[in-house]
Amino acid sequence: MKLFDVYPINHINITNGKGSLVYDDKGTEYLDLYGGHAVISIGHTNPHYVKRLEDQLHQIGFYSNSIEIPLQKQLAEKLGKVSGKEDYQLFLCNSGAEANENALKLASFYNGKKKVIAFRNAFHGRTSLAVAVTDNPKIVAPVNETDNVIFVPWQDEAALEQAFAENDISSVIIEGIQGVGGIRVASEGFLQKIRSLCDQYNAVFIADSVQCGYGRTGKFFSHDFAGINADIYSMAKGMGNGFPIGGIIISPKILPAYGMLGTTFGGNHLACAAGLAVLEVMEQDNLMQNAAEVGGYLISELKKFKEVKEVRGRGLMIGIELPAELANARKDLLFKHHIFTGEAKPNVIRLLPALNLTKAHADRFLEAFTTVLNENVLSFR
Ligand code: PMP
Repeated sequence: MKLFDVYPINHINITNGKGSLVYDDKGTEYLDLYGGHAVISIGHTNPHYVKRLEDQLHQIGFYSNSIEIPLQKQLAEKLGKVSGKEDYQLFLCNSGAEANENALKLASFYNGKKKVIAFRNAFHGRTSLAVAVTDNPKIVAPVNETDNVIFVPWQDEAALEQAFAENDISSVIIEGIQGVGGIRVASEGFLQKIRSLCDQYNAVFIADSVQCGYGRTGKFFSHDFAGINADIYSMAKGMGNGFPIGGIIISPKILPAYGMLGTTFGGNHLACAAGLAVLEVMEQDNLMQNAAEVGGYLISELKKFKEVKEVRGRGLMIGIELPAELANARKDLLFKHHIFTGEAKPNVIRLLPALNLTKAHADRFLEAFTTVLNENVLSFR
């Protein structure tokens, strides 16, 4: 059987990793500033993480969700403490799409309504409802098409008010910083406006924190910068540092009834051990503070490059917009300098490194970026 190539693949075989560094089977070292798309939150093979998972695997890896799993309660308590949302309830699942799917469903159970507001350029995942609130018609199959989603232009308050006035809105789903859409930071005023319209119309505010959450911006949820509380936060990616785990946290206003939510694998022993290890390391090593500091440093240094059109982001979620003719070539060049970065539209180099990225590694990137901007693109083709 042949493997279906989901993404255009760099044909290297990464076999080892440590912190923000990874190595291929030939021993070549790469600086990982992408973390497998914001997944690696506490660095590769963090010793505490490895030990916790290994110990758990020796005890028990999985048993049915129909018995009590104390690790789930421990994870909920720890997450409440680190995120500051202690009065919320945690539901555990396996991915970001599944988290959003459950958030949208729960909102509709709560208020009995059907219509959802999402935003232009949003990305929320590839399952049925998640793909329907994602602004990319190319990935919506006919079976997933729905009239229930209204797309509002990013940060357009007038269009948002109109959408609320003309439709019976169940929920609004918004990334605090659009990731796939190009690292676009939602303004505090816009998030506050959504909060007040949701209150006015009895709609549910869903904060998609799959990419921008979990401490990446220096606050636990990037929506926290606006000083508001969302009704549901969806999470995944950095939550397990590579072990598949996702979840939603639900405000006390919404009380899910028995049977509304469920999953076979969600919250299994190994996933909880991974989740707990991540939060323990985040707390012990002050990773949110490090993300704010090293991220702030990177952003201010990147703003000094005259070739860069715009630098956007917060903490360690950074988008570097380049003029169109430079963008793709520069990412390839960075790869040739053994630096992993991501991309986003339009012409954006995306950085989503581990939250314990060191200043020395940030400097290594800045040095390579300087070289790359001065290199003759054609010489590499
Ligand atoms: N929401 C956001 C903001 C994302 O960036 C992603 C993944 N890129 C998802 C949801 C979907 O997450 P997953 O791939 O784990 O289903």
